[in-house]
Amino acid sequence: MITRFAPTPSGFLHRGNAVNALLVSWLATAARGTVALRIDDMDVPRLRAAYVDDVFAVLAWLDIDWQVGPRDRTDLETQWSSRLRLGRYRTALDHAVSAGLPVYACTCSRSQQRGPATGGCAGGCRARGVRHEPGRTALRVALPVDTVVTVGDRSVRPADRLGDFVIWRRDDLPAYQLTSVVDDHDLAVTDVVRGIDLLDSTAAQLFLAPFLGAGTFAAARFWHHGLVVEADGTKLSKSQQSSGDPLPRTEDERRTIHRLAATVGAPLGIGTTSD
Ligand SMILES: [Zn+2]
Repeated sequence: MITRFAPTPSGFLHRGNAVNALLVSWLATAARGTVALRIDDMDVPRLRAAYVDDVFAVLAWLDIDWQVGPRDRTDLETQWSSRLRLGRYRTALDHAVSAGLPVYACTCSRSQQRGPATGGCAGGCRARGVRHEPGRTALRVALPVDTVVTVGDRSVRPADRLGDFVIWRRDDLPAYQLTSVVDDHDLAVTDVVRGIDLLDSTAAQLFLAPFLGAGTFAAARFWHHGLVVEADGTKLSKSQQSSGDPLPRTEDERRTIHRLAATVGAPLGIGTTSD
């Protein structure tokens, strides 16, 4: 059994990330499995060294260990960086297109890309048949609107919320949905523990997996846990905290994170085996 903690260092880790890391650790401990640390550092403009260091500091503070992956920022940059794997992602994209993944080039700007996703992009690029120009156009997946993906005991229609999601970015870098599948596949991950807010992404990734030749990912188990919310019931998000401070590494905060992890882990049968 191999599971992973996969933070994106575009902000300091928040409670939700820390809870997820604990659940990953507890699941692996119970199954005598392996934890991989996979840091997605592809998004260079939002990356900061302090955010990367924070990942290692929080894991050490929570006594979470991992057997695969970088041990510190230097190790990440020299051995494990997503940017060292660009060739791998390009090969995966070529493989997917050769295998029949329906894609089209999209000229929409980043702000247009955030528009409502109802079977296409804001600019209607799917119908326009634009030629793909790396660095100028993104590549989107022409996701059939009636696509239904089985995720555990759920049936998910990824087109409803994600629409024609981007697989290769306008700045000529691989998009999250592609790197996530390829990385998990290459690490031979068997169990993915993530928040329920990523259910649509899981469905999109399972749709992609056969085209990417990611059979291991297609066969993985998915543990979607409830979201950690603020005391007033609003969702925590990394962007909320990105201008703020790192988690206070106090004993009180550690206890809170353990309590929250036990709460969201219980419905999945994931719990601590100690204290
Ligand atoms: Zn477009």
